[in-house]
Formats: sequence, structure tokens, C-alpha cells
Amino acid sequence: MIESGANVAVIGAGTMGNGIAHVFAQRGYKVTLIDVSADQLEKAVATIGKNLDRMVAKEIIRKELKEAAIKNITTSTSIAEGVKNALLVVEAATENLDLKLKIFQQMDAAAPAGCILSTNTSSISIAKMAAVTSRPELVIGMHFMNPVPVMKLVEIINHPGTSKEVTDNIVSLSKDLGKVPCVVNDFPGFISNRILMPMINEAIYCLHEGVAGVTEIDTIMKLGMAHPMGPLQLADLIGLDVCLSIMNVLLDGFNNPKYTPCPMLVEMVKNGKLGAKSGEGFYVHKAGSKELVVSDLTVQATPSGQNS
Ligand code: NAD
Repeated sequence: MIESGANVAVIGAGTMGNGIAHVFAQRGYKVTLIDVSADQLEKAVATIGKNLDRMVAKEIIRKELKEAAIKNITTSTSIAEGVKNALLVVEAATENLDLKLKIFQQMDAAAPAGCILSTNTSSISIAKMAAVTSRPELVIGMHFMNPVPVMKLVEIINHPGTSKEVTDNIVSLSKDLGKVPCVVNDFPGFISNRILMPMINEAIYCLHEGVAGVTEIDTIMKLGMAHPMGPLQLADLIGLDVCLSIMNVLLDGFNNPKYTPCPMLVEMVKNGKLGAKSGEGFYVHKAGSKELVVSDLTVQATPSGQNS
């Protein structure tokens, strides 16, 4: 069993990678956080520090625990170096199949025999990643939710060749991280994004077609359906590029046009409007501000069939 004190490597230090490194480090695991960008690694460690400080201020953890957690994290720009002593690797790089296949080959070549190779992919086939390794039985999906230190769920994805021992190990480890694991099978988007992402895409279509504005769409879903956050606000939090990639995986995987990404989503990603991480999506995001300011980009279109 993989327990507190074990070496864990996290590949990708973006939105998810920094959160995943945070929860492992806070529970006493020795984490190597890996990214191609040294800048991104620096930003990620600063974000983890700030998030731990917030937890200290709210009296969720003691100051000594924050200091110990930060000491548990080292960084590397090399996958080969970063995974060489790991018992578990969590891949959390950009949602792109070709990139993930390349990373899985690198992880497999450099990680010790017996090391479990997991991925935080939102939608991509775990079996495809397992197939490029020499250890498919040790490959599994470990899908954390955003923001990782706050959200309880870990969706664990077995592909047909995942060994039962590995699943049991990852279930037990997820519980040790204070999370609630749910085991599912390897279909495009698994459960979470097969249900969530078409809803977000439909909300974008509603905006695109002029059914209502950003505030109205999000308010209706918050107050009418008791969602803690509207779908457009959630899309900004996830990253519009990630949302688009997931819709494309669903479209290709099921070969069903109902998963066609909304043209407005495609256009926003093309223009670099990625949500919180780029500073603008459906809302404008200012560091340190929680105010919801609707972006000018998303001015409601004239409903088709009506005069403006
Ligand atoms: P992100 O764009 O914020 O971060 C991706 C990071 O990967 C970047 O820092 C990038 O530099 C790094 N990277 C790219 N190529 C690399 C390589 N070859 N080696 C090492 N690092 C590399 O993306 P994210 O939102 O953190 O998503 C990461 C993964 O988590 C994706 O698979 C995504 O689908 C999944 N996910 C995202 C969310 C979410 O809400 N954003 C939720 C659950 C799962």
C-alpha cells in the first residue's frame, strides 16, 4: 500500500497539478512536482503556499503543518529525474492525447518497476495510455476535482487491464488523502464529464443563440437547480480550453453530433479567452477579487427570429 511518507511525482503544475501536489504534501507524502516550464513550477509553489496560508488563517491547519507541507515539495523540469524514485505518478499535464501518450512512454521508461502510473485526465481513454506502457496492469485514472484541496471526490477509472490490487491501493490512498473515491469504467468523459460537459456546452449554446445573458443563465442554474455555481462560471474555473478538449473527446469517442462544441466556445479558445487562468472568459477575473464581472465579449446575441 502507498502510505504517507511515500514518494509521489505529479506531472504538470497547472490548475490541477498544483492542487494535487498540495493535498499529497499536506498529508505527508514526498512530492516531486514536474513541469516543462520552470516559471509554471515557481507559480505553482507560490499558489500552494498562498492556499496553505489561507487554511492556516481559517484555522483548518496549524502553521507547522503548512511549513512541513512546503518542505515535502521539490520541483523538476525533467520527467526522467522526477519520477525515478516514485511509488506513484499522477499525470496532470495538458488535456491532449498525443502529449499524454508521449508522457506515459517517458514515465514508463523512467519510473521504478512496480510504480503505479495514474492520470488526472478529464476524458481521454485510460486504455490508450496503458497501451503505450510495459505495465498496463499498473495504469489507472485518478480524476481529482477542481479546486483539489477543497473538493472531496476522486473519480477512479479502471481500464479493462487495471489490476484489482492497483484499484484497491488507489481507493485506500484516496481515502488517506481525505477524499471520497468512486470507481468507474473507462468510457469517454467517464461519469463526471459525460454529464457535466454537455450541460456546460448547452449553457454556452443558450448564450450564443441569445436565449439569455451570462448572469441570467448562471442565476437560473444556481437558484433554480441549487447548483453552487452557474455553468458559465464553472467553465471559467475549469478552463475553456479544457472544456473544448473534453467536448472533442466525447464527439470523437461516441461519434454523435450531440456533443459538437458550441462555436462560441471554439472562438473564445481560439482568441485565448480561457477563463480564470487567462484572466477572461465569460467573466473578467482579477487576482484577489471574487466579484463576478461579466466579460464584454459575451454580450447577448440577438435571438434568432426577433428584431433588435
Ligand atoms: P493547465 O493548462 O492549467 O496545466 C497543464 C500544465 O501541464 C501546464 O503547466 C503545462 O506547462 C504542463 N505541461 C504541458 N506539457 C508538459 C510536459 N510534456 N511535461 C510536463 N508538464 C507539461 O491544465 P489543467 O487544467 O491543470 O489540466 C491538467 C489535466 O487535468 C488535464 O488532463 C485536464 O483535463 C485535467 N483536469 C482538469 C480539471 C480542471 O478543472 N481544469 C479538472 C479535472 C481534471
